[in-house]
Amino acid sequence: MKLIVTGGAGFIGSAVIRHIINNTHDEVVNLDKLTYAGNLESLAEVSDSNRYSFEHVDICNRAEVDRVLAEHQPDAIMHLAAESHVDRSIDGPAAFIETNIVGTYTLLDSTRHYWNALPEAKRAAFRFHHISTDEVYGDLPHPSETSSAEDYLFTEQTAYAPSSPYSASKASSDHLVRAWLRTYGLPTLVTNCSNNYGPYHFPEKLVPLMILNALEGKPLPVYGKGDQIRDWLYVEDHARALYRVVKEGKPGETYNIGGHNEKQNIEVVHTLCDILQELRPRETSYRNLITPVKDRPGHDRRYAIDASKIQKELGWVPEETFETGIRKTVLWYLDNLDWCQRVQDGSYQRERLGIDK
Ligand code: NAD
Repeated sequence: MKLIVTGGAGFIGSAVIRHIINNTHDEVVNLDKLTYAGNLESLAEVSDSNRYSFEHVDICNRAEVDRVLAEHQPDAIMHLAAESHVDRSIDGPAAFIETNIVGTYTLLDSTRHYWNALPEAKRAAFRFHHISTDEVYGDLPHPSETSSAEDYLFTEQTAYAPSSPYSASKASSDHLVRAWLRTYGLPTLVTNCSNNYGPYHFPEKLVPLMILNALEGKPLPVYGKGDQIRDWLYVEDHARALYRVVKEGKPGETYNIGGHNEKQNIEVVHTLCDILQELRPRETSYRNLITPVKDRPGHDRRYAIDASKIQKELGWVPEETFETGIRKTVLWYLDNLDWCQRVQDGSYQRERLGIDK
């Protein structure tokens, strides 16, 4: 099987590509624009494989997307390319509308034309897998509001109610995918996943930001009381789930993916501080660095996923608990502080692409 993975230089996309090259015989084409969040170094361990290739392409560029499809003749597309940081979407929504909505439209429509021209057997087996987020569902009752909060989980039937420009743009892209399935018959699959954490996460997101700030003795900024609840999934478990879906999922279906790990943000930060204290002891507790900051506007209070459908229908369950996954993550960052430095200053990328500063 030959797969195109869009956004393959990002956090989750690179985990998907490493998983495919290391564990299967499939070929992968990584189609990525290389925004600040895309880092080819995350693929260094697999990029010499003759089953891996890279296309430096923006999904909004129709002519280039058409060319890549025609040249590579994929059997499936896993679409992860997106602007993904909620805070950035609040400060500057335009890029989110452009990539997440217009880019997904461009990719879908290019794929439709490519797919229509395929021979019948290849056409029937083709898959377009759109990777989305649980944030499209808005938020759930919080334990501080009701004693029955844990009865509420996002299922595949939950109505969409996005709160941020990021989640609204992802919700729009999910709807476009559904329309290309219903109207044109394109064999699509959608997955909506909870918060990921793990290696190669760009150091602006909660987990890596806290680790790096703590090591430098900087404040650990926590929104409001830090009582927002997220359902945490180790990124390699997500990669395994996505591969299972593209291989065995039923076209037209949506699968929710989650880790059954509901944690308040402050609990995550406490856990990170405590692991660091054990591995890199500090005179005063890392917890003393925690600094409450003004809450994010429109901040969702709680997300939690019912992942029973993918478990029942495709037999996927996460391999990591939060405790094992978060420890692995801290150890990875401690061993790869130079990676953090290079992705933040872009030096590896420039060297690989032959770009002068
Ligand atoms: P990321 O920001 O780390 O990576 C995004 C990748 O997309 C980067 O490599 C970037 O260069 C590329 N990209 C951005 N704009 C592009 C464009 N116009 N054309 C081509 N490539 C472009 O994101 P991530 O955390 O790996 O998330 C990947 C996908 O998974 C996203 O669609 C996101 O919505 C979804 N998702 C993320 C999470 C999470 O916790 N991170 C959870 C659920 C779903």
